[in-house]
Amino acid sequence: MKRILNSALCLLATLVCSCNIQPTYTYVDEYPVYEGCDLGATFTPSRTSFRTWSPGAEQVRLHIYADASSDEPLATYNMRRAKQGTWTYNVQQNLEGKFYTFQIYQNGQWYDETPGIWAKAVGVNGDRAAIIDFQKTNPENWENDQRPAMAHFTDAVIYEVHMRDFTIDSTSGSHFPGKFLGLSESGTTSPQGQKTGLDHLKELGITHVQILPSYDYASIDETKLDSNFYNWGYDPENYNVPEGGYSTNPYDPATRIREMKQMIQTLHANGIRVIMDVVYNHTFVGYESHLNQLVPNYFYRFYNDSTWGNSSGCGNETASERPMMRQFIVESVKYWATEYHIDGFRFDLMGIHDIETVNAIRTALDQIDPTISMHGEGWAAGGSPLAEDVRALKQSAPRFYPTAVFSDDIRDALRGNWMDGNKGGFLVGNGYEESIKFGIVGATAHPQVDLAKIIHSQTAYATTPAQAINYVSCHDDPCVVDKLKATIPNIKEQELLAMDKLAQTIVFTSQGVPFMYAGEEVFRDKKGVHNSYISPDSINAIDWSRKAKYRDLFDYYKNLIALRKAHPAFRMTSAEMVAKHLVFDAKTPKNVVAYTLNDNANGDTWRTILVIFNGNRKPVSYTLPSGKWTAVCRHGKIDEQGLEQVSGQLKIGASEAVILFQ
Ligand code: CA
Repeated sequence: MKRILNSALCLLATLVCSCNIQPTYTYVDEYPVYEGCDLGATFTPSRTSFRTWSPGAEQVRLHIYADASSDEPLATYNMRRAKQGTWTYNVQQNLEGKFYTFQIYQNGQWYDETPGIWAKAVGVNGDRAAIIDFQKTNPENWENDQRPAMAHFTDAVIYEVHMRDFTIDSTSGSHFPGKFLGLSESGTTSPQGQKTGLDHLKELGITHVQILPSYDYASIDETKLDSNFYNWGYDPENYNVPEGGYSTNPYDPATRIREMKQMIQTLHANGIRVIMDVVYNHTFVGYESHLNQLVPNYFYRFYNDSTWGNSSGCGNETASERPMMRQFIVESVKYWATEYHIDGFRFDLMGIHDIETVNAIRTALDQIDPTISMHGEGWAAGGSPLAEDVRALKQSAPRFYPTAVFSDDIRDALRGNWMDGNKGGFLVGNGYEESIKFGIVGATAHPQVDLAKIIHSQTAYATTPAQAINYVSCHDDPCVVDKLKATIPNIKEQELLAMDKLAQTIVFTSQGVPFMYAGEEVFRDKKGVHNSYISPDSINAIDWSRKAKYRDLFDYYKNLIALRKAHPAFRMTSAEMVAKHLVFDAKTPKNVVAYTLNDNANGDTWRTILVIFNGNRKPVSYTLPSGKWTAVCRHGKIDEQGLEQVSGQLKIGASEAVILFQ
């Protein structure tokens, strides 16, 4: 990508343009691209250099403040027009600990003050940028922090967690409830003595935590954190700064930075990678946003009649295809990967972004570390001014390989179409066998899968299994327990538990990348609330006393994850390998899917693995292929060492998953 910055370009950028003439632009598309990498503030003890980009502005002011909320600035400077649409000003003082904003004059008006979009530190609630010495934000030994090893993305087991959900309940035993530090705290237990926090994650065996939005978002008032306010965080305010509400002191700009780094460092030291949920597709507000107050109308998409594009469903959508927006996203992702050592990125509504931008991010990350993962939602939440065929939608996934997409096909085949909250899927005996098979092959092309019968997609969109994220639930919509309860009113808990085990067994044995929602392993529910983005802790918090109560379920999840990690047959790395080694039984009873993984697939120690899923709410009889089989998953238990020997005719229980090997 030609606009990726290198050090030579950075040197060039320090040359100040002497032409102080007001340029005229008819359209924002005519704005020049700034090729330097010093936007925002560059601090040294003797001088801070400011540069911002706002080509259409007629004047730009720089305000310096003593703190994040005082009314009067310490000083206001008129910035000078510089090259490529930028404005600069150097303050020859030590500004450490001070705050700043930019303010532009354009179209006959002064716009609101803004920290700009390149701010890397902010004060409480993110209205002003902060000038800090980043060297002082690094925890001890940060320079030796290493990403845990990962050979293939199919080796990942992703655990999606909201910072507050994980530790806010008193049953977590956390000393940092709802904070970054809570996610990496060890030695905590539930009242019943069960491990919680970091020890819980290690016991479960996941490899990646995917943290819900943890950049600075707008919806939570950071001055009122004692109130029970809650938000998922899909309302970006400052993209390059951690959220203040997750720090122990949102008033001190360095604290949130240091504590997020500390969390990542500790997770890394315990073998866990960190994926960050990033939401570049829209901002909390449109017209009033930092982006729009700095460069009106540039960073967003509009229809021809000047109405705002809204494919996010949140009132605005960003224009990743515009060069400076694309550059901003690429640089922001690179920044999180380098400054914070983030190991992967989950792109919210990735189908809003253009494919060229997604590929540019991948290219930039490859230069840092090719094992940094990328996946996203291959859809949007509405129509867009930008044509579908250039956007990163699921059906176009081969054009942005290897970035992965969520398989809503396996999700909805399991639990029923998301558009119908009360109608179930395979888990309650409602068919969808072909879509389950499509999920099992990781959305790759397979000779035994009839694409015409797939619930959402009629193309095999995954180039390799690593391009498909398999899941049955995430933060969106009801969690598994609530969905099954909605599907079958008055369902008995024993049946629910069996269906839950069946659901995750399908996810965790499928080719592709398994993904789970935090708390499912302790039978979490959200009390029937679907869109719980502003629901209180009473809905969203994980109640850790459930771990003792549902220990059998937890052990099942734990053993299931261990089984996947021990057996590469479930983690094949190419579509060809899957097509060759994975063979479906073409003659199963209705609501049953069965397949074998043959010939020591992907170097597995087991020659043949037979997997059978009974989606019926009643037992079925299944004729095993010849010979004796060792059962490792049977009657709701998993033991890789073997539970029993079976052969001939096998009675499979209602909603049961069976895994056998020879
Ligand atoms: Ca915030």
